[in-house]
Amino acid sequence: MRDNIGDVIGSIWSSTDVSQNLNYICDTIGSRPAGSESAHLAGEYIKKKLEEYGLETHTHRFEHPCWEKEIAEFFLDKKSLAAIPFHFSKSEDLSGECYILDNPSEKSFERASFQGKILLATPTKQRHGGMSRKDMFKKAVEGGAIGFIQMSSTLGGVLETGSIGNDFTEIPALSCSYETGKLIDRMQKRGKGAITLSIKGKKVNKSSYNIIGDLYGKSDNMVISGAHYDTWDIGPGAFDNGTGISTVLGLAETISKSPILDSLPNSLRFIFFSGEELGILGSEAYVKDYIDSDKTPNVSLMCNYDCTNIKGGVRGAFTSNSIPMHNHIVDFVESRGFDIKMSLRPPHGTDAVHFAHRKIPTFGLAQFTAPSYMHTAFDTPDKVDISGLKNSTAIAGAILVDVITQQIV
Ligand SMILES: [Zn+2]
Repeated sequence: MRDNIGDVIGSIWSSTDVSQNLNYICDTIGSRPAGSESAHLAGEYIKKKLEEYGLETHTHRFEHPCWEKEIAEFFLDKKSLAAIPFHFSKSEDLSGECYILDNPSEKSFERASFQGKILLATPTKQRHGGMSRKDMFKKAVEGGAIGFIQMSSTLGGVLETGSIGNDFTEIPALSCSYETGKLIDRMQKRGKGAITLSIKGKKVNKSSYNIIGDLYGKSDNMVISGAHYDTWDIGPGAFDNGTGISTVLGLAETISKSPILDSLPNSLRFIFFSGEELGILGSEAYVKDYIDSDKTPNVSLMCNYDCTNIKGGVRGAFTSNSIPMHNHIVDFVESRGFDIKMSLRPPHGTDAVHFAHRKIPTFGLAQFTAPSYMHTAFDTPDKVDISGLKNSTAIAGAILVDVITQQIV
C-alpha cells in the first residue's frame, strides 16, 4: 500500500516553492494592505501559482470600509515623537495629561481614575490571555478618558499598528514605542509631559479579493484550507501571514502532485483571504456569500493557517466544533511524533472565526513567541525559520491527508 502521508511530507520537504513564495510575497511585493495595488499584485501572484499547480481558480470580490490617514502628529512638551494612529481613530486635535495604567487588567481598570485624561496603557499580551486592545479601549471610553495610547511591548523604538473597530472610534487612539511610553511616564512623575496630538483621517470604500483554488474530489463535501494574504501598511508581514500563504500554497502544490488526487474523497478548496487585518472581513464576506447562501453548503472542515512559523516559536494547533476529530488528530499527531501542542478551543481573531460560528469544525495551526514583530515594520522573512516553516507545512499536510483519507470529516 502507498504511504500517502509519507509522500506528502517528502514532497513538502523537497519543494523549493515554500521559501520562494514567502520571499516573493514579502520582499518583491512587500506590504499589502487590503484594497491596495500591492494586495492586488499579491492576489494575482497567488492565483498564478495555484493555476501553475493545476487548480481551477476564481476570485471573490467584496467591498469594505477602510480608513485613510491624512494627519498624525504627536508631541510631548512640544517635542515631536513617532506614533501611529490606530485604524479608524477619531479625527481630533487634543491636549492633556496622561494617566498611566500599568499591567492593564479588569481589576486595575476598576481601581484607576482617568476621567478627562489620556489613558496610556502599558503592554499586554493580546493573543495569550491579558486584555485585548479592544477591551482596554472600551474601558478607557467608559471611564471618561479623552484619548487612548497603547505603548509597544517590543523594545527598540518599535511601533505597532492595528485596529480597534470597523468605524471611527469614540476618542482618538494611537500607539507609541515602548521607550516613548516610558519617557512619558518619567516626565509625568516630574510634573511635566503634556501631550498634544492631532489626528485626521477619512473613511473610504475599497474592493478586495479572496483568491480561491479548487481540487475536485469524489464528493462535493468540501474541506477548506485558508490563509489571509493582506497585511498592515507598515511592514511586509512575513510571519503574519507570509508563512500562512506559503503553507497553503505548499499544501496546494503537494496535493495537486500527489497520487491521492486520483481518488480524493473530498473536494479541497484553498482560499487566500484579504481584509483579515481590518477585522476578518474577507472570510466574513466569503461565509456570507458562499455558505449562508448555500452556494457551497457542505463544508465539513475549515483549516486556517495564520502565522505558521517564527524562529524560536512554539507550534500549536487548535480545533473546535468536533470532539471526535480533535481526538483523532491528537492520536495521529502522537503516533507520528509530530512536534505540536494540541488544544480544543474556538478560534479567536482570525479567519476561522466566521466558520466556527456556523458550527463548522475548524482546525488551526500557528506558532508564537515574544517578540514576534507582528504588525510592525520588522516582520520580515529573516524572523522565519525555513525548516520550521516546512515542518509546519508538512504537519499540516499530513493531518489534512489523514483526516480526509480516514473519512474523519
Ligand atoms: Zn494574521
